[in-house]
Amino acid sequence: MTAIKVYLKAGKDESLRRFHPWIFSGAIARMTGKPEEGEVVDVYTSTDEFIAKGHFQIGSIAVRVLSFEQEEIDDAFWRRKLQTAYEVRQALGLETPTNDTYRLVHGEGDNLPGLIIDVYAHTAVMQAHSAGMHKDRMRIAQALSDVMGASIDNIYYKSETTLPYKADLSPENGFLKGGSTDDVATEYGLRFHVDWLKGQKTGFFIDQRENRALLERYARGRSVLNMFCYTGGFSFYAMRGGAKLVHSIDSSAKAIALTERNVALNFPDDTRHAAFAEDAFRYLDRTDDRYDLIVLDPPAFAKHKDALRNALQGYRKLNAKAMEKILPGGILFTFSCSQVVGKDQFRTSVFTAAAQTGRKVRILHQLTQPADHPINIYHPEGEYLKGLVLYVE
Ligand code: SAH
Repeated sequence: MTAIKVYLKAGKDESLRRFHPWIFSGAIARMTGKPEEGEVVDVYTSTDEFIAKGHFQIGSIAVRVLSFEQEEIDDAFWRRKLQTAYEVRQALGLETPTNDTYRLVHGEGDNLPGLIIDVYAHTAVMQAHSAGMHKDRMRIAQALSDVMGASIDNIYYKSETTLPYKADLSPENGFLKGGSTDDVATEYGLRFHVDWLKGQKTGFFIDQRENRALLERYARGRSVLNMFCYTGGFSFYAMRGGAKLVHSIDSSAKAIALTERNVALNFPDDTRHAAFAEDAFRYLDRTDDRYDLIVLDPPAFAKHKDALRNALQGYRKLNAKAMEKILPGGILFTFSCSQVVGKDQFRTSVFTAAAQTGRKVRILHQLTQPADHPINIYHPEGEYLKGLVLYVE
């Protein structure tokens, strides 16, 4: 079967020549047929030159590029792609006796727009963000089995909330392979229950791994407040690092329950830790406690460009509130995971917060996402996680 051809308007091939992986619907002049959502189409320039192939979808991003070469998108293609992604992770040395948690496929960062695969011990959690990846999920799961061999017993597919609702794909979450209920994964020697069935994202925020490890070095003897703790990630590094007290806050009662289970798993009967299900802003407003180290890792305040202004205000307010609670000589780990908020914009919000509180603030570290969340150099939008470690005098 020959693929439907998508012809671009004149001049709209420029970004593709620089290997940008998206084709916006406005760039398309005509198509030789009516592709289904998720179908693989061939893309041609206005002068009838082949330029890319990718998954078609109705929406502002009409094609997500899978290849800039005229190659078959078949089983061998998926195996090659996953093999490359796996080799990159092996080069990073992330699979060790004390670490079995990492991201295997990071969408555009691994030249697979719309696909996320996270590995938790013997389970891979696969998430489709495009109709095409949903359509190809069984082939991808097979390729994943072929590449990872016996190290992966379970493949859980979790796309009920990540696919375009209009496409009417009615995805169902469930195991494509195996079905184990053993949900414990290990990250740098700490053990976590990962709730891939009901948890946020694929069940855990792997992207903070290196930043959590950095925090451990600052924890000795400090009182720590971990805001937006989710399942407690930063808290356990703080405890292992010798913190004298750790408070974990999240508005989700489920997250707090899982945090408590993770405390029991790693530090049974350790009285240094307490967790509270509460709104972060409210907690900061009501508490009289001061801390030596605060973590702010809120959810994305802006998911779209039009929410940018409010998001920047949000970061300013949150950081100002936190700075007021920091003891002299304290440390603030502050993050933004909003893709639309730039590094400089985030820094300006934090700068404004500092100025507002009148504290003397030094930047100690500038943080980003880890190497298993790589950034495709042709797709700078893929850089989403920004963080600052501040010394507050
Ligand atoms: N730091 C975590 C990840 C944080 S994800 C880790 O290392 O795993 C963001 C978290 O913020 C989510 O768990 C969400 O439930 C929580 N959250 C969202 N809005 C909140 C609010 N207003 N107050 C407190 N927590 C909130």
